Formats: sequence, structure tokens, C-alpha cells
Amino acid sequence: MLEAKVTPHWPKESLIETDLQHSCEHRQFHSLINRHVRSPPADPTQASGSAPPPEEGAAEGAAAPSKKGAKKAEAKAKKEAEKAKRAAERAAAEAQAKAAAGGGEDLAKDNYGNIQPSTKVDAERVNLKKLGEEHLGKTIKLRAWIQNSRMQGAKMAFVELREERNWAIQGVMSVNPEGKPVSKQMVKWAGNLNLESFVLVEATVQKPLEPVKSCRVSNYELHLTKCYLIATGPEVLGMTLNAANKAISSFDDEDPAQDATTEGVKDLSLTEAAGAPSATLVTHLNNPVMHKRAPVQQAIADIRMTVRKLFAQYLEERDFVQFEAPCLIGAASEGGANVFQLPYFDTSACLAQSPQFYKQFEIAGGRKRVFCIGPVFRAENSNTPRHMTEFTGLDMEMEIEDSYTEVRDMIEGCLLYIFRGLKEKHADDIALIRAIYPSEEFLLPEAGKEVRLTFAEGQKLLREEGPEEFRNVSDDEDMSTPQEKALGALVRKKYNTDFYVLDKFPEGARPFYTIEDPENPKVTNAYDFMMRGQEILSGGQRIHIPELLEARLRKKGIDPASPGIKEYVDVFRSAGVPPHGGGGIGLDRVVAWYLNLPSVHLACFYPRTPKRLLP
Ligand code: ATP
Repeated sequence: MLEAKVTPHWPKESLIETDLQHSCEHRQFHSLINRHVRSPPADPTQASGSAPPPEEGAAEGAAAPSKKGAKKAEAKAKKEAEKAKRAAERAAAEAQAKAAAGGGEDLAKDNYGNIQPSTKVDAERVNLKKLGEEHLGKTIKLRAWIQNSRMQGAKMAFVELREERNWAIQGVMSVNPEGKPVSKQMVKWAGNLNLESFVLVEATVQKPLEPVKSCRVSNYELHLTKCYLIATGPEVLGMTLNAANKAISSFDDEDPAQDATTEGVKDLSLTEAAGAPSATLVTHLNNPVMHKRAPVQQAIADIRMTVRKLFAQYLEERDFVQFEAPCLIGAASEGGANVFQLPYFDTSACLAQSPQFYKQFEIAGGRKRVFCIGPVFRAENSNTPRHMTEFTGLDMEMEIEDSYTEVRDMIEGCLLYIFRGLKEKHADDIALIRAIYPSEEFLLPEAGKEVRLTFAEGQKLLREEGPEEFRNVSDDEDMSTPQEKALGALVRKKYNTDFYVLDKFPEGARPFYTIEDPENPKVTNAYDFMMRGQEILSGGQRIHIPELLEARLRKKGIDPASPGIKEYVDVFRSAGVPPHGGGGIGLDRVVAWYLNLPSVHLACFYPRTPKRLLP
């Protein structure tokens, strides 16, 4: 009787708990449950190792079991048995859940981790740009950067995956009840990947509950089933993508003492609305990878390459041929100043300040229309938003039949073609850039109403309608940068254009090879082209008669027999050269001023300035 009373409530519960605490493998656990729940040992006190203390009633009963006492003990035993049963059920459920999450064994271990040579994901490769309704429910693969990641509890991770530029999508990884294809360990691993790591994922395309605002691909999300790390990002990024994609906060890389620095930034209307600036130019340039990953920089880079293409396209359609000018030359092409000299075996060489002479050599050599695109070097200690020590020149030269205006109008047509092409081909990029560097629409003149002012007309406008400080500007002296900007503002107001030509520059403001106006030798047949009040091109008709060239050289105080110059003059002696003219456009400035960027350094892939030669 005593045995019968004690057995049911004996040790099931305590033994199960003990076994649970010490068992790892759920299979062992199940066998324990089975063993102890289903067939308790004959002698429980032996099995448990510690018999429960005798109960009051039982002890009494042992001495003199009353009917009432026996009933009470029976009821208690029943209750205990119920309790033990419930505990066993609870333990079994817990064990099942643990098994589902992988338990000790990670059932998803092959679906994540560092990529191995043997790793293969067979799903269809789909670019985020092309993701559509037809992919819903399908499994795809994607290679992308981790743009953002966060754990949502222990069973779910949200991972933003960026494929290129700002093409990002939300990825969701959640633990499967069966422990695969996604386990708890896998979610934890993915949720802790460093930002900007590069991964290969397999995922099913699904509709999110609501559009994902933080990602460009907002109407779909990826439910990740595999994730392999191809290359890890650092623990801490030198500059985050968010910072890289904001307006640059300071251009202190440049010398603020130079007037044009701050002036340029102010006038280029980088307003407060640009948002909280978060990294300086120095930080950007010192973190070239993140600088380049910023969608804004990629949009600028693409626009830059389109300008090059459109320049070539327009000219080639008009029978221009391309040629290549050397960068290494024996003597300064534009005079002695501002030239980089470098050792050249037992002598010295210069880096070309422009392809000017070579364009003319091509014309002298029988090419009627030529252009070239290449680097130009200026050893100027100009720390301004407009200057670099190396920039890209878009240069052209052509024969003139009747008037130098043939050249001027050709370049004007070319630039208008470029501006219209940019608007048409890069509307999205321009909008993206504007969201960071605000700008007003770049105004173009109506066809047939192009604005060409003579230098004298420009000065007159400044004297009459410009700021007080320009009341006395002279027709014989070159314009300063503030003058140019003030004139740009006046032209915009008066003619509704940000692009215009300033023609007939004073003789003193142009180089020795520029031809004088035969009707007024105080001015030249030379022009500058302006964008938003800043120069982007200089050009004009060149002297093609050697005697005239020599005379002009002497007038400018240059010895026609000096090295480099003599060879240049000899070209016009060696054969009759037709009248010709051309121009040189600064690519960096065209891009920067079209987009109203605060500095040309942002429009260039690897800016070179007096203070920067790296990376
Ligand atoms: P600036 O007076 O602005 O220094 P520049 O008169 O010396 O220019 P040019 O020699 O006529 O310029 O060169 C033709 C074009 O090349 C310029 O209109 C400009 O677009 C570009 N350019 C000249 N110098 C630089 C420079 N240091 N950095 C970037 N672009 C330049």
C-alpha cells in the first residue's frame, strides 16, 4: 500500500528535471522521457538516488493508516501525478522547439558563412533594376553589399542589400521552425555582418507588407534562404555611405585665404537646404572607396563621361577627326610660367599645359577639323573651387573659310548639344544630385536667340547695371572672377540664359598666337564661353602667317627664337597653313557648373590640387 501510494508521485518530475538539465541531445532527452514516464523503475528511491521525505500523513498511516488518511494520500498522489504529466508535456514541447531551432546541431550550416570554392547557388541571377511582378514567389540569386542590417529579436534579421548605385532592397531572414533552410545561428550571423560587406544571397521574391521606404526597390523584398560572405567590410567604416551621400560640409582642403574659395562656394548656391553636411572634402578624398560608392558621386561620374561622348559625337558628325596630343613635351607650350618640369634623362621635360600647338600641327598637317580629349597640367598654386593642377581638356581646332565666327558657332552648337543631351539622358541623375546639391535649372537660350556679347558690351552692362564696385570697369582689361559672376547674373536676368559667349577680348588679355581683329587691333577674334557666370572655354582664331606671329611674339616680349616657340613658328614656315581657330573646354568645369556643384574637385575622378596628389 505504501509502495503503491508513493510510486505515482515519486520522482518523475524531479528525475526529468535533472535529466533535462544535463542532457544536450534531444534524442537522449526523448529516451529519458520515455524511460521514466512510460516505465518507471521498480524501485524509484534507487533510481532517483534520493527518496522524497516521508509525508506526514503517510508516516502516520504507516503507523496506523486511517481510512481518511489513506484517501487524502491517494488524492495527493493523483495530484502529483497530474503535475508530473504536465511537466513532462511541457518539457517535451520545449525540446521540440529547441530541435526546431537547430538544437545543438545547426541544420542550416551549409546555407551561410564564408564563401568556399565549392559554394554554388543555382538560382536565376536577377538585377534589382529588372525585378518585377514576374519574379514574385521565385527564387533568385544576388551579389550585393550589406547597406544596413538589424536583428529583430533572436529569430529575424533585416538586411538591406545594395547591388549598385542606390539600387537596394530589403532582405528578411527568419528562422524556420524546422531549423532549415534558416536557423537561429544563421540569422544571428547575418544580422551581425559588417556594413559594406559583399555577399552572395539566394532568396525568394515577396511583396512586403507595406512599401519599404528606405530602399529604392520598395515594392518587393527578398526572403533570404542562403547568404555567403564574399568579402567582409571593416568593423568601423572610415566614412559611412550616408555621410558619403550628403553634401560636403567643408572644402578646407583648399586655402580659405584665397578669395575665390569661399566666394565660389557661396555663389554656387550650396544652401542650407542641402541638408546637414556630414563629411569634409578631406574625409571624402581620404576614403575614396566610400566616396565613390555614394550614388551622388556615381551620378556625377556618369554625367562626366556623357559630356565626353557628346562632345566627340557632335564633332564627328561634322567631319572632325580625333587625334592624340603628347603630355610630355620639351618646352612650355603656353609660356614659361605654370609649367611642371621633370627630369628627363640628362635633360628636363615639361607636362603639357594644353594641346594648343599640337592641334595646330594637325591642321598644318592637312587635317581640316580635329579634336582631342586628354589631361592638361597647370603648375598654378591656385587653391580655388575652379582650379586643379591636372584637368581634362576637350579641345578642337578647324579650318576657317570666311570668318572666325564659324569656329565660335561650331563650339556653341557643340555645347548646346551637350547640355540638351544631358537633360535628356540624365534626368534621374540630375534629380538625384539636386537633392544633395540644390541648383536651379541650367537655363539655355532659345534656338536662334543665343547670347553673344562682345567683351566691351559685357563691361558696359556691368558698368550700367552691375554692382557699384564695377562702375568703372575698363574695356581694355581682363575681367576678374567677381566681375564674371556679376555679369553672369545680369545676363541670366536680362536674357534668361546661364550659357553665353563673351567675344572680342582685348588684345592684352589673350596669348601671342591669337589673331587681332583686322578692323580694331585693340581687340582679338577670341572668345570665352560662360556657364553660370564662370569661364569654361577659351578660344579664338590663331595667327597662321609666320611673320605676323613673330611680330606678335615680339610685341608680347617673347623671343621668337626661344626653345619650343621657334619650332612652333617654323611650322608655319614649312608649308602654307590655312586660317584656323578653335577652343579648349575644361571638362571638369562644364560638369561642375552644369550641376552647380560647389567645386570642380567633385566633378573629377581623382582631383589633383597643390595640396593633393593622393589617392
Ligand atoms: P582661369 O583664368 O580660370 O584660370 P585660364 O584662362 O587659364 O582659366 P585656359 O588656359 O583658357 O584657362 O583654359 C581653357 C579652359 O580650361 C578654361 O576655360 C577652363 O575651363 C579650363 N581650365 C583652365 N585652367 C584650369 C584649372 N587649373 N583647373 C581646371 N580647369 C581649368
